[in-house]
Amino acid sequence: MTGVPKTLPDMTFEPVPDEFLLAGNWKHGAGPATSVIDPATGSELQRVGHAGVEDVDAAVRAGAAAAADPAWRGLLPHQRATYLHRIGAAIEGAAPRLALLQSYNTGKTLTETSALVTSAANTFRYFAAVLETSDEDLTTPRGPYLTMSVHEPIGVVGAITPWNSPIASDAQKMAPALAAGNAVVLKPAEWTPLVSLALARIIDETGLPPGLLSVLPGRGSVVGDAIVRHPGVGKVSFTGGTTTGRTLAHAAAEKLMPVSLELGGKSPTIVLADADVEAAVNGVLYGIFSSSGQSCIAGSRLFVDAGIYEEFLDRLVARTQALRVGPGREPGVQVGPLVHHRHRDAVARHVELARAEGGRIRCGGSVPDDPRLAEGAYYLPTVIDGLANDARVCQEEIFGPVLVALPFHGEADLIAQANDTVYGLAAGIWTRDYRRAWRLARALHTGTVWINTYKQFSISTPFGGVKESGLSVEKGRTGIRAYSRQKSIYLGMDEAPIAWAES
Ligand code: ADP
Repeated sequence: MTGVPKTLPDMTFEPVPDEFLLAGNWKHGAGPATSVIDPATGSELQRVGHAGVEDVDAAVRAGAAAAADPAWRGLLPHQRATYLHRIGAAIEGAAPRLALLQSYNTGKTLTETSALVTSAANTFRYFAAVLETSDEDLTTPRGPYLTMSVHEPIGVVGAITPWNSPIASDAQKMAPALAAGNAVVLKPAEWTPLVSLALARIIDETGLPPGLLSVLPGRGSVVGDAIVRHPGVGKVSFTGGTTTGRTLAHAAAEKLMPVSLELGGKSPTIVLADADVEAAVNGVLYGIFSSSGQSCIAGSRLFVDAGIYEEFLDRLVARTQALRVGPGREPGVQVGPLVHHRHRDAVARHVELARAEGGRIRCGGSVPDDPRLAEGAYYLPTVIDGLANDARVCQEEIFGPVLVALPFHGEADLIAQANDTVYGLAAGIWTRDYRRAWRLARALHTGTVWINTYKQFSISTPFGGVKESGLSVEKGRTGIRAYSRQKSIYLGMDEAPIAWAES
């Protein structure tokens, strides 16, 4: 079953056992299997059997029992934190293997996947530290009682992750959910189950009590839907597309269950006339073309001051054409293939749409003609302009290496155009004028703004979208609270009985 990649002689793919973690046991998926492909070559890496709805039920029941067990529930925060520290160290110990596996499965460059693995390890460490240092609150008394606010586990948390950055998004949900004292049932994306299964094995081997983690590969509409609708699941954290997020929110509303949704984006990157042009060009390139644009925070709409527009675009296009496209495992490659041929074709259709709408394709706009890349899911980094902000390619998330560029005339025009989108995930501003940067940053309707940098990520800084980009935030010290239930406790201190009841 194992495909041997054609282009990579010295980094052999090692298949992951085709078994998933179901509450401490490893099980073959009885459902239909996914053919997991190497998007760099188009060859099949291996097959992965899907879990079924009955597996979801077993995982949730076991998770509920494990979360309620005093062996977990009764742990003090610093004791629970030791499990997270151990998981962080185990991920770090397996980092080269995990990075290579993820590069095979997603097509991303090894530099990118290595950074994602490091981020996953650090996420567990960070939430271990948060867990040990989070205080409960004593609130100001307004009567003869002591009042406090405490946080308790929810029970079983469902985690549903997308294909673009599996190990990092898995960790961003697992770590705070476990830290808060819950059990986790995670479903990875159909195209990219491998690194999540490998991560489950690593975590299982650290001695996490069985039942606290299940990782169930399968279809979103079957396994994902069963997780969301299961009465034993008290919270779902989802990262993925806005359409799926809305479907999930509807299902969650039926149960009145809280959800965290990290959804799509069409983030504006803004270049003001006084920007350091070299830094801005680098930032714009990185913001859209790293990970081949398959990032919810990709800076996919570029706004440039009309006074420097043509000059900036010429420079940007020349640099875009010089980007090195190839297999993610090859040293020096900057732009790997897209995750799957089907996704590549969807990206190509968006570019055709831009052509049909009258857009100018300034570079790219096709698959590469290098015969070495012919079988892979490649698409050339593409810059499009000549369209208004209401064109479909300026409004719809493409999730590929496609940048649309627009000029702006003055600050009011810029703010109006930048905010004219259903999305509100992130934005970038390139300028030497910090007062102006501050003013713009406050005027943009997004969850994150980068000034003179882009796509930097810190686990200690909250992240979330506004408008149709999401609900709730992940990361940061408060990230752990998204997986807890707050409870208020009043401790009566009055010696006298409550006067009302006295006869
Ligand atoms: P994309 O990121 O390609 O837009 P989705 O948002 O559809 O993909 O997928 C993100 C995750 O959500 C994947 O793990 C997918 O299997 C899962 N998913 C898709 N549909 C549903 C659904 N109806 N209920 C729960 N999960 C789903």
